[in-house]
Amino acid sequence: MFTPDPHPRPLGKSDILVSPLAWGMWRFTGEVAPARVLVEAALEAGITLFDTADIYGADTPAGFGSAEALFGQVLAEAPSLRDAMVIATKGGIRPGNPYRSDAGYLPEAVDASLGRMGIERIDLYQIHRRDFLTHPQEVAASLTRMVEQGKVRGIGVSNHSPAEVDALQAFLDLPILSTQPEFSPLHPQPLFDGVLDQAMTRGMAVLGWSPLGGGRLSGGDHPATLLLRDHGQRFDVDAATAALSWSMAHPAGVIPIVGSQNADRIRAAAGALRVSWTHAEWYAVLQAGMGATLP
Ligand code: NAP
Repeated sequence: MFTPDPHPRPLGKSDILVSPLAWGMWRFTGEVAPARVLVEAALEAGITLFDTADIYGADTPAGFGSAEALFGQVLAEAPSLRDAMVIATKGGIRPGNPYRSDAGYLPEAVDASLGRMGIERIDLYQIHRRDFLTHPQEVAASLTRMVEQGKVRGIGVSNHSPAEVDALQAFLDLPILSTQPEFSPLHPQPLFDGVLDQAMTRGMAVLGWSPLGGGRLSGGDHPATLLLRDHGQRFDVDAATAALSWSMAHPAGVIPIVGSQNADRIRAAAGALRVSWTHAEWYAVLQAGMGATLP
């Protein structure tokens, strides 16, 4: 039987403590007052890990950097909120390139993120996607310098294969604290491609993105959603909240990133901490998500 651990835990090999759930700002846009309500809802839900990226908002009229800038406006209006937060952002995706992590780009990107959020230090700086044209040694040097300069507390990656993590880590004296794959019953690949195994062997935190498959597990009649809804009912939570707890049940200690931009739904995410799973229940959801029976 798996029951979630509600306590803060270290972010990988660091002394940075984070909550068992994160809140994400991929879809964070609009005016400052409602944006602040969402940030406060996440804190009310016990969430201390806030995940954004410089690219978030690039698909809105406000453009590249706008999600970080909106977050910065909220923090400027209510500076004390910062004290309760671990702020994670990402760089390395630039429309038109599409990936850039070279030494001519990354140091400027981190400075721009700091400026937009109006903070002195980023707690976790993640390489959003691997730039095939930059040697990992060059990426490692830029990341090391950010930490040495005090601009960043720790470093992580997103959408990296285990081989890509190994290549980057080989040129770093600092540990890569975290990896961020897409992970849900509808996207269970990290179970099979070595990403979660590597996180456990290297002691890296796992931030799971799109834990509801972009919302598909919150409603509708997908077989996985139906099972999640039934399971959730036993713990007085909805299918979406049960889906978060499904991710958390993995022994890598997956931290699902709640993507909702609705204050009530963000607060409801805390219910994931009271959902437990037996082996049979968890595997039934996995197989329903895969649409296949495991061998
Ligand atoms: P998700 O939780 O899979 O999907 C969120 C969507 O589901 C929202 O549109 C939300 O709508 C909807 N939803 C959630 N709960 C619902 C409910 N109970 N009923 C109806 N609709 C519901 O997560 P995501 O937004 O795709 O991703 C989460 C975070 O992961 C992002 O914010 C970002 O931090 C991170 N991410 C990272 C990457 C990467 O490459 N590293 C890529 C994508 C995302 P409402 O807002 O209306 O609730």
